[in-house]
Amino acid sequence: MKPQVVILGAGFAGHTAALHLSHLVRGKADVTVVAPRNRFTWFPSLIWVGTGTMSPDDVHFELAPVYEKIGVSYVDGRATTIKPDDREVTVQTASGEERMIAYDFLLNATGPYLNFEATPGLGPSTGNTTSVCSVEHAVEARDRYLDVVRELKAGKRRRIVVGVGHAGATCEGAAFEYLMNVDADLRARGIRDAAELVWVTNEPEAGDFGVDGIEAIKRGVLVTGASLVRMILDEARIVPKIAAGVTKVDPGVLHYEQIGEDPGTIEYDLAMLIPQFRGIPIKYVASDGSDISEKMTVPSGFMRVDADYTPKGFSEYRGADWPAKYLSPHYDNVYAAGIAFAPPHPMSKGKKAASGLAIAAMPPRTGMASGIMGRTVAENIAQQVSGEAPTHHARMSEMPAACIASMGKSIWNGSAASIIMTPVARDYERYPEHGRDLALCDLDVGLAGAWTKRALHSAFLWKLQAKPGWQLIPE
Ligand SMILES: Cc1cc2nc3c(=O)[nH]c(=O)nc-3n(C[C@H](O)[C@H](O)[C@H](O)COP(=O)(O)OP(=O)(O)OC[C@H]3O[C@@H](n4cnc5c(N)ncnc54)[C@H](O)[C@@H]3O)c2cc1C
Repeated sequence: MKPQVVILGAGFAGHTAALHLSHLVRGKADVTVVAPRNRFTWFPSLIWVGTGTMSPDDVHFELAPVYEKIGVSYVDGRATTIKPDDREVTVQTASGEERMIAYDFLLNATGPYLNFEATPGLGPSTGNTTSVCSVEHAVEARDRYLDVVRELKAGKRRRIVVGVGHAGATCEGAAFEYLMNVDADLRARGIRDAAELVWVTNEPEAGDFGVDGIEAIKRGVLVTGASLVRMILDEARIVPKIAAGVTKVDPGVLHYEQIGEDPGTIEYDLAMLIPQFRGIPIKYVASDGSDISEKMTVPSGFMRVDADYTPKGFSEYRGADWPAKYLSPHYDNVYAAGIAFAPPHPMSKGKKAASGLAIAAMPPRTGMASGIMGRTVAENIAQQVSGEAPTHHARMSEMPAACIASMGKSIWNGSAASIIMTPVARDYERYPEHGRDLALCDLDVGLAGAWTKRALHSAFLWKLQAKPGWQLIPE
């Protein structure tokens, strides 16, 4: 029997790994993807679904036909238990049965658990806020946003709060994009003056985005993301609440703590807040039946990999702390990539509020980074299938990231902030001054970014459906 490669999750990391494995191990190993709902979601465009400027049908596609085309088996289900000693995964399938799947190589790419419960009153189904973290959430966010639009048109004044809903959240970039798209949409409708927009974020400084900020040399001058984002917020007359951790959301009133300030409240008519992310709750069980989840994961539920998790102070963080291969330290055939792996530490400087609450932006594992990790793991598994040791590496302190933050979708008068940083996680040993190679960092705002963001939507959905030439489009 050929070696069995099993991938849990079909998002940016898992699906990218499946695409690459489909040709890297063709004829040498069988590849199976386990993921619920037979759906790939292109998250970057959910901000447009949430403002009603893109149809929800345009941001997802069915996985099964893609896997059939590339010779990968697909199981519609959720992994519930991993038994690394026995090399088995238990899966709850869509039809309700429990199925055991054996593997020789396993990739956990299950993404985030959206931990709305960590903030009382947060979330779309049981709480008081909207979210753009899934297609269904974005559709509900759109409907509630359009209700507010109707009220604004009827001459009422409304306050819309956008940001992150937990002191230890990540994904501030996505929330910022939603904020700027709401701003652009209200302007396009001619009702911006009737709305007050508030930006609530746990970042220590505007433009931190959980990566300790961004900077670039523009015409010989050092420009920072902080000054750029402050200027954007000022120009758009958006009220910033920076270094703030949301602690509770009552109907119409949001409670927060803030570094250097007394705790406060904000009244709102509509609030879109991204929740804290945790690892997907999967149980890890040893061959004797004992629960080894604590050994395999960190307390937030993300899987331990080949990172240096030794607790240390901010000034002692090193580029080499970040994982290279995304391989479990305990099992040389178990990987975790994308949001599912446990980062060794934050990238940005968190602080404590007067109450002792830690307010810190957690490291993002964006779509591009997750895709690169997925490809790297695929290349390593292909080497192992061929009997070689895995040699491919892609630390977040080695890899570049390009992010296009939409600030209005229109290709006529839209805008976007285009950001390039190399590497994502600062490495002061290699780049003593800034921790990054500023010759390979860039920061720009303009219409060209809006075109690029729209073009990326189409190019990546082409690639991810394995359409002709998909290999030519990089992660
Ligand atoms: C609104 C929004 C906008 C964003 N915009 C951008 C952007 O512009 N650029 C960018 O780079 N990044 C962006 N991101 C971040 C990007 O979406 C994530 O970084 C990326 O999705 C992470 O990839 P992943 O594979 O780790 O997780 P995901 O893409 O979330 O994939 C996880 C997969 O695991 C599956 N799964 C879950 N539980 C189980 C289980 N128990 N068993 C098996 N499978 C399971 C899921 O169904 C899914 O298929 C955005 C995110 C959001 C929410």
